[in-house]
Amino acid sequence: MRLSQYFLPTLKETPSEAEIVSHRLMLRAGMVRQSSAGIYSWLPLGLKVLRKIEAIVREEQELAGAQPILMPTIQPADLWRESGRYDDYGAEMLRITDRREREMLYGPTNEEQITDIFRQNVRSYKDLPLNLYQIQWKFRDEIRPRFGVMRGREFLMKDNYSFDMDEVGARRSYNAMFIAYLRTFARLGLRAIPMAADTGPIGGDLSHEFIVLAETGESEVYYHKDFEGFNPMVDVDYSADLQPTIDHWTSRYAATDEKHDADKCPVDAAELITGRGIEVGHIFYFGHKYSAPMNAVVQDKDGSQTPVHMGSYGIGVSRLVGAIIEASHDDKGIIWPDSVAPFKVSVLNIRPDDADCAAAADDLYKKLQVAGVDVLYDDRDERAGAKFATAELIGIPNTITIGPRGIKAGVVEFGVRGSGEKEELTPEAALNRLTA
Ligand code: ATP
Ligand code: MG
Repeated sequence: MRLSQYFLPTLKETPSEAEIVSHRLMLRAGMVRQSSAGIYSWLPLGLKVLRKIEAIVREEQELAGAQPILMPTIQPADLWRESGRYDDYGAEMLRITDRREREMLYGPTNEEQITDIFRQNVRSYKDLPLNLYQIQWKFRDEIRPRFGVMRGREFLMKDNYSFDMDEVGARRSYNAMFIAYLRTFARLGLRAIPMAADTGPIGGDLSHEFIVLAETGESEVYYHKDFEGFNPMVDVDYSADLQPTIDHWTSRYAATDEKHDADKCPVDAAELITGRGIEVGHIFYFGHKYSAPMNAVVQDKDGSQTPVHMGSYGIGVSRLVGAIIEASHDDKGIIWPDSVAPFKVSVLNIRPDDADCAAAADDLYKKLQVAGVDVLYDDRDERAGAKFATAELIGIPNTITIGPRGIKAGVVEFGVRGSGEKEELTPEAALNRLTA
């Protein structure tokens, strides 16, 4: 992509409405624009990152056995009356009436909808286990939308739902998602700690929130210092017993303020770390909570009918864009992890008026494109300083700088955003570095 043609409305000034760094940088880097409170348009650069996150989330869901579906954003109120949540949900739910006076709503989540699909289409234990996921927009009329996409009103969520015959099966499904979440967040360059979460009236220990540590996080968190030594990436064979991995990750104390009680905390003060964090995922086993009232039953081997055991699992896909920036930036801008970077490299021609530089930059740009490297070519008629500032702001992991002195000597400058390292290489060596 040539930057001269790319829709990248960057801002020099820091937008005053943005309280936290990720929100400021997303606005300054031209990733999103607010439409109304907590509702955003995604511009090309932001959308590219969002799609990369989605792709990783999808790969890990499917590796763990979940199948993709897509449910509507608008749901009938009647489904929510069956579960009893239509009234319970309160003002956070956006309620809509259609032209025939039918009550509808913009889904804040999809347990009722999926339970309806299940009960209409699945009858037998032979069809289980089943795990269905989607990545779809949600709407919650949050009292205080803030921090940009981190607490939006309209936001993109990966939500999935597991269906099992019994609790043993349900736990297996839960464990698979637990591990899929660890892997997903690790691939996004994040260190997420699973923390015991409230299970509400159902009880039990089968709910965890995945929290990324960040000063600006909305949750206060307490966790054993040993977590800092845990390897975030786990290797997995989903056909093997997953319990040992789960046991390892739940062997140390970790809880958010909702669950933490200083008097009852089992960890020595010296070993307990208190901090703040961002909830990027939440997994939940809730048994018959929806299947019983909505009559989602399956026939067991002995012919009896039992309500299906369900769990639900959410990842805040759009929130993750902000969370990754909170975890990875400096005073110049964003530092994208390679896995989600919108482009792999920027080519900066610092002298577009110089024929040799322009020819060398055009040539390298074409070669990178042919090699399948996602490249942003800063061919604008701007000063070098402005080009560096843009590349740093938008966080592209690598830069290749082309200038007249280097071109005479047959070299370009290869820079790495994260480490700040710079090195002179021939254009061929720079190309190889990116395609190796
Ligand atoms: P929170 O405690 O942050 O309000 P929640 O517990 O209500 O979140 P869940 O219902 O568990 O959220 O939703 C699953 C995931 O969706 C959350 O872990 C979070 O990452 C994301 N999410 C929830 N609310 C929002 C929001 N308003 N804006 C962006 N992402 C959100
Ligand atoms: Mg939650």
